[in-house]
Amino acid sequence: MNELTEQNLPEANQQLPFSAILLDMDGVLFHGMNPIDGAMGFMEAITNIPHAFITNNPIRLPQAVADKLEHIGFKRPSEKLIVTAGEATSAWLAQQKPGYSFFAVGAEGLHQSLNQYGNEDPENADFVVVGEGEGINYEAIITGINLIIKKGARLISTNPDTSVDAVYRGKRVIMPGGGALVAPFVAATGQQPVTIGKPEPLLYEMAMQVLGVKASDCLMIGDRPDTDIIGAQKLGIKSALVRTGRFAPGAVLPLSMQKPDWDINSLSELQRLFSW
Ligand SMILES: [Mg+2]
Repeated sequence: MNELTEQNLPEANQQLPFSAILLDMDGVLFHGMNPIDGAMGFMEAITNIPHAFITNNPIRLPQAVADKLEHIGFKRPSEKLIVTAGEATSAWLAQQKPGYSFFAVGAEGLHQSLNQYGNEDPENADFVVVGEGEGINYEAIITGINLIIKKGARLISTNPDTSVDAVYRGKRVIMPGGGALVAPFVAATGQQPVTIGKPEPLLYEMAMQVLGVKASDCLMIGDRPDTDIIGAQKLGIKSALVRTGRFAPGAVLPLSMQKPDWDINSLSELQRLFSW
């Protein structure tokens, strides 16, 4: 795996191989409400490099994500620079069917995101949208599968993560991700969901559009090879895997994935590497 070899060290005065940065947040900038070591210094160091935040977490609206970053101690970013799986799902559904109706299974923030361009209608929804957070229960599964089987609603998954490392009621735990929570709907209906979040391209594309940059301009920084890194690679975006989230320093990565351009222990290491 790429250590800090001469091969990937930028030469002195050499231009950076990218001009914009896309950042995952959970496991990269923070765990729960705690900043990851070095993350604040890193964010200060890249103040003048255009950057945006992309997260598969559909639970919070961009405003709430900005609040969270500020509360933790980061400089508050513009909400426009925060692309969540909930926002992307809402935008995608509006493209498919302007004024769509939906039945959502997930946290309040998911409902709020979807309400921007659509209307909740548990009786005749066009889309059954399954996200993360509290909201799934026996009744929600019954409503969702009946909409799909009897009324032809399409099943949408905000993000494919099967599990997420998170803080729940004050404890660091593993929680079911969108990919796990959608499973009962898939099993009961036989319908495969349309999946919106990373590694699918939409979140990257929305962030690049906001920044006015193209894939070859960007570096994606994330902690998950299966979403952050693979999604970037599919689009031709350079990638840096940090080992402050899903994988610890030295942990062996899945053999099936291609190596990221940079495999680094922390954001501080990346900061040193590029002399920021
Ligand atoms: Mg992450």
